Amino acid sequence: KSGHSDESSQPMLPVVNRRKLEEFLEDFQLDMQTLRKLMKLMKQEISKGLDEATSTEAVTKAFPPFVSHLPNGTENGEFLVLDFDGDHLKAVHVKLQDRRVSVMESERYTFSSDSKTGEAKNKLFYFIADCTNQFVKGFDLSEKTLHTALIVAFPCKYDGPQTVRLVKWTKEINHQGVVGEDLHSLLREALTERRKEKWATPHKFDNLGKLEVVSVVNDAAGTFMSVADKVPNCKIGLIVGNGLNACYVKDLTHVETDSPDDDKQHEIIVNTELGALGENGCLDFCRTAYDKLLDEQSNFHESQVLEKMVGGRYIGELVRLVLEGLTREGLLFRSVPSRDALFKRDSFSTELVLKVENDTEEPYKQTADTLNGLGVKHFSQEDLQTVRHVCKAVCERAAFLTATSLATLIKRIKQPEVIVVVDGYLYRRHPRFHDLMYSKTLELVKPELKFYLVSPRYERSIGAARIVAASLRSRDPQTA
Ligand code: BGC
Repeated sequence: KSGHSDESSQPMLPVVNRRKLEEFLEDFQLDMQTLRKLMKLMKQEISKGLDEATSTEAVTKAFPPFVSHLPNGTENGEFLVLDFDGDHLKAVHVKLQDRRVSVMESERYTFSSDSKTGEAKNKLFYFIADCTNQFVKGFDLSEKTLHTALIVAFPCKYDGPQTVRLVKWTKEINHQGVVGEDLHSLLREALTERRKEKWATPHKFDNLGKLEVVSVVNDAAGTFMSVADKVPNCKIGLIVGNGLNACYVKDLTHVETDSPDDDKQHEIIVNTELGALGENGCLDFCRTAYDKLLDEQSNFHESQVLEKMVGGRYIGELVRLVLEGLTREGLLFRSVPSRDALFKRDSFSTELVLKVENDTEEPYKQTADTLNGLGVKHFSQEDLQTVRHVCKAVCERAAFLTATSLATLIKRIKQPEVIVVVDGYLYRRHPRFHDLMYSKTLELVKPELKFYLVSPRYERSIGAARIVAASLRSRDPQTA
């Protein structure tokens, strides 16, 4: 991506109001000194996660390797990838052949809210099994042996290749009864149960016969692996979507392993669960009153503190809370009767923030449409500019915090040149996130280290398919 900073599109407010607004938003500004202090803290926290002696109490994690072998680009075969983000399941049929990758078919299913009550554990996994059945049937795949991966956008702990426990839910998703459970077994059991039901209701679940669940993969690792085996020096995977996370490649050259020499594993992927940073209070010095308000409303208090300042699940609500504060202070929507339309929780989504941030030309029609759509019918041109200012301040801080995390990881890798795979809808669709994050990272790692940001050409299901194939290779070197 190439881009530009959009100084020209800075809203022009009357001087007095602009000063008041700037004071109001002051706590969202992070200067270089604060960012350097943050970097130090992040470095300590990440080291704690990596050190075996301190990793259990550490907030950021270094979850151990979940594949005994990393993909090397020679993987072949057909795979089914089930990608679950908490609300949706995307089923993808992937083919890897002679270094070529193809997404054959894919389909997205929504987990309906009424199935979210009751024994969620079973409902959730029966939902996944039923969608899988529908997908396999719909695309005529029941005769194929499909090795399967489940991608989850949540922290998982690998207690061995076949045991992957959900550590906690994040991003306000909260299905009861699943935390601490082995996702691998839950999926396998749900598929087996549905297969049994086939006998009671002939042909209903005919299509699950040839599936074998091989891996459960975190989404950051899937994203990373969709690129990593093709690009040398690719060491970090970063997601800035609804949530925030990073994984990176740790060198094992100095670690003894039992594997034969030619098959020795020299590197592993470590999932940092970066979004959790701050759960021990170490970010409190730079949290604003609005971050704390947002946290009070959350299903999970003082959890995923950094993610709540950066992730798309939260940015919209954070903007809304600031707009509500400004309105109550009389700095926005003065004497407009419908102004309290914005006082409703979650009414200002991150989609709307993106719409406002992409609306760079006066008279800011998209911003006006956004407010109209929310039921705020009367506003001045100055109000539009204030709303834009708030979106800008919140998003800029998110980009700078992400840059600080990235710079910390780049420095930790200690390589003269590092390629970073970055994905996630906030990063991709925000008009300046890339530029802001890139330039701030550059400032923080300068002058000794070089880094490049790349976006995956393929979706993360390709990465997950590669991980499945590599696991099969380690099980039986002849298979893949
Ligand atoms: C989860 C991570 C995930 C990230 C991006 C976070 O809430 O804890 O495991 O990678 O979101 O989806």
